[in-house]
Amino acid sequence: MNMPDYPLKQIPFYSIILNDKFWKNRLDTNTVVTIPHVLRRCEKSKRIANFEIAGSLTTEKRTSKLPFDDSDVFKILEGVAYTLKLTPNAELEQYGDEIIDKIATAQEEDGYIYTHRTIDPENPPIISGRERWEKLTIDSHELYNVGHLYEAAVAYYEATGKKTLLNVAVKNAELILEIFGPGKNESPPGHQEIEIGLVRLFKLTKNERYLDLAKFFLDLRGSKDRIGYEAYVFQSMDSFPFKGPDRFEYNQTHEPVTKQKEAVGHAVRAVYMYSAMADIVMLYNDENYLIALDQLWEDVIQHKLSITGGIGAQAKGEAFDEAYVLPNYYDRFNELGVYNETCASIANIFWNFRMHLIHGTSKYIDVLERTLYNGLLSGISLEGNTFFYPNPLASKGDIYRRKWFDVACCPSNIVRFIPQVQSYIYSLKNSRININLFIGSIVKIDLNEEIIELHQKTNYPWNGLVEIDVNPSKSMEFSIALRIPGWVRNKPVPSDLYHYITTNEEKFRLEVNNKLIDLVISEEGYCIINQIWNKGDRILIEFPMPVRRVLAHKKVKDCNGLVALERGPIVYCIESIDNYNVEKLKLNDNTHLGHQYQEELLNGIVTITGSVQNLEINVKQDFLAIPYYGWAHRGRSEMIVWMHH
Ligand SMILES: [Zn+2]
Repeated sequence: MNMPDYPLKQIPFYSIILNDKFWKNRLDTNTVVTIPHVLRRCEKSKRIANFEIAGSLTTEKRTSKLPFDDSDVFKILEGVAYTLKLTPNAELEQYGDEIIDKIATAQEEDGYIYTHRTIDPENPPIISGRERWEKLTIDSHELYNVGHLYEAAVAYYEATGKKTLLNVAVKNAELILEIFGPGKNESPPGHQEIEIGLVRLFKLTKNERYLDLAKFFLDLRGSKDRIGYEAYVFQSMDSFPFKGPDRFEYNQTHEPVTKQKEAVGHAVRAVYMYSAMADIVMLYNDENYLIALDQLWEDVIQHKLSITGGIGAQAKGEAFDEAYVLPNYYDRFNELGVYNETCASIANIFWNFRMHLIHGTSKYIDVLERTLYNGLLSGISLEGNTFFYPNPLASKGDIYRRKWFDVACCPSNIVRFIPQVQSYIYSLKNSRININLFIGSIVKIDLNEEIIELHQKTNYPWNGLVEIDVNPSKSMEFSIALRIPGWVRNKPVPSDLYHYITTNEEKFRLEVNNKLIDLVISEEGYCIINQIWNKGDRILIEFPMPVRRVLAHKKVKDCNGLVALERGPIVYCIESIDNYNVEKLKLNDNTHLGHQYQEELLNGIVTITGSVQNLEINVKQDFLAIPYYGWAHRGRSEMIVWMHH
């Protein structure tokens, strides 16, 4: 079978050894702190016990009762699998195996798995319905959960060769195939995710029925003549739990996916759906899906992206807001203002990388990089044991990271994201290697049956100097394409939603074996070096990294008259622990801004300093800005990203 697939290839995360300080620290923290922390929390909150109770392994009573509890355990197992694949760890693997055995006992005879219903079918969680899948489109998360099960099962099998979880997943998928399909149950899942899971299951098993089922679920959305639609409308009228944007837009059932042009509704649901649509574009060669997807991407990048790469700016409904509505503050008591959920940043990365694999251009990586270093990283503390769910761009001092949440999607999502971060560094286009991200690492790439080893050395994101040793197994001709980031090309985002106040005219430097290379940037956004490469060749690229002032499009009302600071891929903020009266500071457009690496601060960061006018007391004062991701680490602090100018 020769299925179509993405024209560009991702390099698997386990072929890449991270060795730079910035990301290696994060990876080690994920392994040593975050994974044990979230596993303990899953034990404490009885999420793991739920599988034992459902499997009659214990007479303990159920305590947690949210419909998506099972998914957290699946997602953490996915993260455990990646971690084991990178570094074998007998103790962790044994613990993973034990959890998997419990999951297997919780699976019902016919393959159904949803612990709360199995434990007490008479009292399923709110919004789950008395019958299986009865409130699937409303919010039971029955198929969302198993989507994460499929992803975990594939990952665990690929890491350990063990099939127990994969067998659970396949048995469940077979049940879903029996129940759902044309002329059978035609209710679309209320929270997208199973589509991504099914594609992964298909890629491993080569069973095309799983792929067809993924497309079937996507095609159900917004098709009003489907079986079960009336029941959904009827239930939505009074029992829908959520009050906010249109309830059909909320879970993207307002239109068929190919007719959707604007990103609306719950951001994580939407962007998991767009990611699955990208898979379908390639695997089915579906032009209509691609047209919709390109329009949705333009809408988000043109209108709905926070400067941090965060998406889903509306707290109410954790949703996309109208065009240009990008608030900064989050009101946690009234669920108003900005949201930018950590999971939405992760989803944004999944989606943008897929868009890159379709189109080959670097603008998707610009969005990915911005999201990665800012909106996503703020979601987890440097210590690795506290988390943000929403990631606002300003705070009155009442927002802090928490150890856990009843709705724990974000911590478990981070656990599975961090170990695969290196898989976004490279992509392959035929015999061309794209270097997308600048992260110290060693990779072995299989190219035309030869092995190319690349060794990146850099202090990115603090310094724009990157050295790459190129070591092919024999002298051979191929291309290496270096992404020239948007921030180097005076374009912070691939739209006019944000722009730098001034143009930086400094040129970047590119050398191969100490010889300067002409700086030609391809339409795709890369400098492409095609030559015969020999062992010991060295590329050197140096991006100037001045401090930049950024303005938002004038239609973004919450940013009118305000300026933000960036340096390289990093967005900055100022906190009241370092600065008096953060909301009242005015930065003159011409004031000189200094920057300095401070090893002892927040695990080593570059800070920005300068002089500002305090508008309240009308005096000059010095200010210090830190990377946005590093806020809320030194006690409760007021914070702003956008200053007056
Ligand atoms: Zn989340």
